[in-house]
Formats: sequence, structure tokens, C-alpha cells
Amino acid sequence: MAASVAIKEDPDEAIDLETRFIELCQTYTDGITDAIIQQEFPQCNAKQRVTAINRLLSTGKVDLLKRGTNLVYKLKDPDAASQTKGSDNQEKLVYQIIKDASNKGIWIRDIRYKCNLLLTQVNKILKNLESKKLIKAVKSVAASKKKVYMLYNLEPDRTVTGGAWYSDQDFESEFVEVLNQQCFKYLEQKATIARENQIDPIAQRNAAFTSLSDVWKYISELGISKVQLSVDDIETIMDTLIYDGKVERSVTASSSAGEASSKLYRAMKSLVPTTGLMRMPCGSCPVFNQCCEGGPVSPTNCVYMKEWLEY
Ligand code: SF4
Repeated sequence: MAASVAIKEDPDEAIDLETRFIELCQTYTDGITDAIIQQEFPQCNAKQRVTAINRLLSTGKVDLLKRGTNLVYKLKDPDAASQTKGSDNQEKLVYQIIKDASNKGIWIRDIRYKCNLLLTQVNKILKNLESKKLIKAVKSVAASKKKVYMLYNLEPDRTVTGGAWYSDQDFESEFVEVLNQQCFKYLEQKATIARENQIDPIAQRNAAFTSLSDVWKYISELGISKVQLSVDDIETIMDTLIYDGKVERSVTASSSAGEASSKLYRAMKSLVPTTGLMRMPCGSCPVFNQCCEGGPVSPTNCVYMKEWLEY
């Protein structure tokens, strides 16, 4: 009769495997798949790997997440673990998905796709997490009815709020118009001073150029904005002035001493007046080719045309 031999697991070896597994998770911060585990621990058999993973999952040291069609093991964030203490696994999973989305937030449809739960379950979990003030819903400017979820203490990204030009999802067109005028006024003043002080036309032209940071400083000191504007915000305004043909931009070359190139702006007078066609909305309309009666857009229902005719 053949004697059956029970293979005894060495507890030290098991602990060592768990420690190495955690170290591997620390290296692959996005999580590790089964393929990576097999590749990194070729000396371990499937049973040893499964035992180690199960122990880490049950002691709450790693999370099991679904990414596409793959399952990945990820080291549990100690903060998240303490934040979601007392929550069930589904709630922890949804919390982690929202956390991973950082301040760009995540739409409910994408949460559902990632966690594979029913809409009613996801809705219930989201309500729970919101009531615990762990997450918040933020309206996105990208779509008026679209809410994205992010951790409660995060400041939403500009792509979600629309940045300085949006207030409660509404585009602040008057504010943008005032900034446009003020930026242009500043450049015109510089050009006038340059004309008065320089005789040489080349020197006049060069003296009229102003750096972006100077324009930003001028606008900040005017105090016309309730929100803190960044240099990038002012650059957006300058871009609109360039598209309007009121301002030209010049870029200085970077110096051999390591100084980075910078953008300079100057108010300019158009040599030829803009043609009538370019002053009407159709002249610069991006959907001009699709515009016809009965089409997706038409002069009859075009809001830009209506506004222009009323003006
Ligand atoms: S009518 Fe309106 S939609 Fe049509 S080309 Fe002109 S601006 Fe564009």
C-alpha cells in the first residue's frame, strides 16, 4: 500500500513570500497581475502563490481590482483603509476607484464599468460615501447634466470646473470681454509710449513688445477679477486677441546661458480692414460645411447668426 505524504508548509517561507509580494506591489504601484507574479516568483508553485495572496487579501494588506479583463493586486493605501473602516468590500472598491480618478473625478458610468456592480448598488454606495463626507459630486462644464465623483477634500481640476472663465457652469462672457479690453489697452499704452520715445521704427516696434508676466501683473493689480488668475489664463486671453488680429506674438530664442525662450506681445493695427464676410459668424464658423437648410445646423436656427443680426 502506498503511503500518502502530507506536504507541510514552512511558516517562515510563507511569511517570506508575503513580504516579497508586498515589496513587488510597492515597485508596481499600479498593481500587479498574475503574469507578473508568476514571472517574479518562478520557484513558487500555484498553491503557495494562492495561499500568500489569500492571506494578504484577508488581512487587508492588498486589494483585488479589475482592470479591463485582468485582475490586479494592489497594495492597500493605509489612509483609504482607515477612511473606509467599517465599510463593506463593495464600498471600499468604489472608494478606491474614485480615489484613483484624483481631482479629474469619475463619471458614474465609468465607476460601474470598473466595479461591475449594478446601478442601484453603485447609487446606494455613492450616497453612503457622500453622507460620510468621503466623496463629493461635482458638476462638469463638459456636460450640464454630468456629475463626476472625487474625494471630498480635493479641489476639482480646471477641466471639470472650466477654470476662471466659468462660474456655476456658466461661461462668464462679460468678464472675458472686460479682460480682453484691458489686456489690449495695456498693450496699446505700451505701443503709444514706444512711438513717443523712439524715433527709429525698428526700436519703436521692439519697445512696444511686452512679456506675458507684465500683462498678468497689470491685470492682477487692476483687481478686476474675483478669482486669482494665472499667467496661463492671461495667455488664453492674449490668444483670442491674436485670433482677432489685434495683437501679434513674438517668441524670443532661448539663450546659451540656459535662459528659456519667452513670449512677447504687441498691439498692432491691421494693414487691411477685415472683410465683411469675416465679420459675420459664418466667416469663421467651424461647421460651415455642414450648414444648410434641413441639415444639422442651418442659418434659420443658428444662434450666432440670430445674435449677429440683432446686434
Ligand atoms: S449660419 Fe451659423 S452655423 Fe451656419 S455657417 Fe453661419 S455661423 Fe455657422
